Amino acid sequence: MKKFVVNSTIPPGRMDPVAWIMGTSKMLRATGAKDIKFRTCYCCSAEGKVVCEFEASSKESLSEGLRKIDFPVESIMETIKVTPEEAMPSFKCRDIGMVCNFEATAKTEDELMKEIAEHASKAHNMKTMSPDMMEKVKKAIKM
Ligand SMILES: [Zn+2]
Repeated sequence: MKKFVVNSTIPPGRMDPVAWIMGTSKMLRATGAKDIKFRTCYCCSAEGKVVCEFEASSKESLSEGLRKIDFPVESIMETIKVTPEEAMPSFKCRDIGMVCNFEATAKTEDELMKEIAEHASKAHNMKTMSPDMMEKVKKAIKM
């Protein structure tokens, strides 16, 4: 699946952008469009603008799907998602009460859990993490 960002303008008075967006997933599903996933959306009711993130197999299929539900498309861009370091999940051993300076940051929580498990096994002699420990670690992860 590729990622797309769609810019739209909801003409003032036609509909509240938030209400419009809330109905979009349902409408898309009703058209039988299986290769389009609606990911997230940013709405500005005051300006009647919405910026939405979709996943789709191609720009053409996304554009076709949106046309079917009469979604007012201004532009569709194929994009890559870049997560700034500040927004990446991170973990500090200190936060679970360890006397340890280990800190880790990863692009996804899964990757981070892998790094933590590796560290736990090497530095804290925990070959496997107990469910209790997993729980503690997950709670200490900052997203
Ligand atoms: Zn540690």
